[in-house]
Amino acid sequence: METDIEKNLVSVRERIERAALRSGRDPSGVRLVAVTKTVGVDLINRAIDAGVGIIGENRVKDAKEKFGKIGARAGWHMIGHLQRNKVRDALRIFEMIHSVDSLRLARAIDGEASGRDITVPVMVEVNVSGEETKYGVVPGEVREIVEAAGRFGNIRVCGLMTMAPFVQDAEEVRPVFRELRRLRDALRRSGFDVEYLSMGMTQDFEVAIEEGATHVRIGSAIFGPRKY
Ligand SMILES: *Cc1c(COP(=O)(O)O)cnc(C)c1O
Repeated sequence: METDIEKNLVSVRERIERAALRSGRDPSGVRLVAVTKTVGVDLINRAIDAGVGIIGENRVKDAKEKFGKIGARAGWHMIGHLQRNKVRDALRIFEMIHSVDSLRLARAIDGEASGRDITVPVMVEVNVSGEETKYGVVPGEVREIVEAAGRFGNIRVCGLMTMAPFVQDAEEVRPVFRELRRLRDALRRSGFDVEYLSMGMTQDFEVAIEEGATHVRIGSAIFGPRKY
């Protein structure tokens, strides 16, 4: 079956806009990250032609292949667990990393960025729900990473990211998004310039927007249902 990416994108954009407006937010404060981790180059190019400006990939190896063919027609964001030995390749592709989940990784990114004389904007991934299968630092460790990164010269923590548990009813995960926002707000009150909240996927992005998401990471709703 042919996937109607263009139509899906119109519908996703409308849903983003409505969720923003009903929570009193400016829709332009919500960026759509089109998650393409199981999607081929042709469909990605179609999505870009239809206005997608940010591509989200969760593996350096796949991203490298696709980036080689697509290039910088869109911005590339890393949204999956990043191994330290892949940092060098990652920084050739990605303009932002949503998924910094340890101080060691932050340090590795800083070192590589320093060698390239760039500053890399990153988000810290937080395991808010405490699920054992999830990456991310526990909420109590976020501040330590943000503080440490503040002392590194070539990495800038610009936000927090989380993945909510899979549930039937998105309302169930509202407290997860609320907690991420609370963590961000507490950091801001302490003077850290942490702005973004990367939260919300196909199953729950509207609730995430109502709770303050600035980046929603959406795959299935654009490219068709898929199992990961
Ligand atoms: C796959 C993935 C998404 C998108 O999931 P959908 O349910 O297809 O929207 C978002 N974030 C991360 C980190 C992912 O790995």
